[in-house]
Amino acid sequence: MATGTGILAIDQGTTSSRAIVFDLDGAIVATAQAEFPQHFPADGWVEHDPADIWRTSRDVALEAFNRASAAGVEVAAIGLTNQRETTLVWERASGRPIHHAIVWQDRRTAAYCQALKADGAEADFHARTGLLLDPYFSMSKIAWLLDHVEGAREAAARGDLAFGTVDSFLLWHLTGGRVHATDVTNASRTGLFNLRTLDWDDELLRLFDVSRALLPEVRASAADFGASETRLFGRPLPIAGIAGDQQAAAIGQCCFQPGSVKSTYGTGCFLLLNTGREILSSGSRLLTTVAYRIGDETAYALEGSIFVAGAAIQWLRDGLGLIADAAESEALAQGLADNGGVYLVPAFTGLGAPHWDPDARGAIFGLTRGTSPAHLVRAALEAVAYQTHDLVAAMAADGVAPKALRVDGGMVANDWLVQFLADILDLPVERPRVRETTALGAAYLAGLQTGHFGSLDDLSARWGRDRRFTPALAAPERARLVKGWQDAVARVTTKG
Ligand code: ADP
Repeated sequence: MATGTGILAIDQGTTSSRAIVFDLDGAIVATAQAEFPQHFPADGWVEHDPADIWRTSRDVALEAFNRASAAGVEVAAIGLTNQRETTLVWERASGRPIHHAIVWQDRRTAAYCQALKADGAEADFHARTGLLLDPYFSMSKIAWLLDHVEGAREAAARGDLAFGTVDSFLLWHLTGGRVHATDVTNASRTGLFNLRTLDWDDELLRLFDVSRALLPEVRASAADFGASETRLFGRPLPIAGIAGDQQAAAIGQCCFQPGSVKSTYGTGCFLLLNTGREILSSGSRLLTTVAYRIGDETAYALEGSIFVAGAAIQWLRDGLGLIADAAESEALAQGLADNGGVYLVPAFTGLGAPHWDPDARGAIFGLTRGTSPAHLVRAALEAVAYQTHDLVAAMAADGVAPKALRVDGGMVANDWLVQFLADILDLPVERPRVRETTALGAAYLAGLQTGHFGSLDDLSARWGRDRRFTPALAAPERARLVKGWQDAVARVTTKG
């Protein structure tokens, strides 16, 4: 006998697919997770097998669905959230992908983007999309697929092929090929989508030589995306919410007010600042993106992306063998009186916002005979806070200085790190009780659409704080630490 109602969130990430069933209080009822292989066919290339993306997503969704059923909770709707920008193209008739998915991290189109930049195309591109001419986004990946897979451009023009980010690809499969759609947040990461018209932009389609016939229909983030095939869950389930992972996390954190900010600390770090109806153009090379569209309300955001956050801790563990597990980093950092003048700039794959320096590489500065493994560990954690400081400073320069920060992601289990973050930002930092904010955001969207959740205000009212970290560092000390970081960054950047 069902004793409750739940919403199933499918969170298709870069290294694993996860599914979580939430009850209508936003509490977790059931979870499932499956990792899948990464493919690195050449230096700087990263691919996923589309079959792995679908198989793991379907399997974890079914597992979480069954566990929830066993616990007496009946799933009423599905929300999707996903790794963003990753690009897939498949045949409409057969569903067969024409190539592996090209993952957001993939740099194969760097020269193509550089050439467009050299032609002076970036200012107009930025004005239309809020993005930069960087291989990170989907447009150059689509162009690459159409150029390199035989016959693809002709087939695309005939309407025989479908492009999708991961959400569209999953939606297509969940609905048995009946729905080819995406939501505004995912569309806003393709480099083909106009932030103002909320439609594909004909100028950009011309620039990248992409046919409209290839593209999914764009819907709101809370919308009717069709129903799952009966054979998947034994009955059709409405698919009622979609958002890219970082936007979903902002929704899960209830960042609905202009000025509210969330920062997610996983492998990388992504900061999103809600700017409400305003499309702010950053003077500091932050991205402008759609935060969500719910009903006929569209909210925009400024976004800063840091490529390496928790990845530096993984490197200390797997590359250097300095720690046995990530959680050890907390006691090691805590055990030192100060950083001993050691700074680690984790530019392993270049620097993201606000530097955007793909050629920068990592470095460690300030080594002495007194430097211990603990100093390196502490420097890796401190770097996360300094990089966040750079993003918040960039937001302040754009006229939107945050007043507090809501944090989530695997790294925020580390109390020392979160306190240091509050100290360096000189801002209160709040950690929520439910840390699975990305999946929660997808569930919120679906539940809003199906009427299981009332309004954004209702959701905001139930956001629960686990702990608030208040800044406790004297200004001169903070300034000294930040200056040490800035000197270190200046020494790794390759741009004047
Ligand atoms: P993702 O979703 O990007 O895979 P998660 O949100 O699961 O990442 O966070 C995992 C990351 O957090 C890993 O890079 C790991 O090194 C880091 N991490 C986990 N626990 C801690 C901790 N206690 N202190 C510091 N880093 C941690």
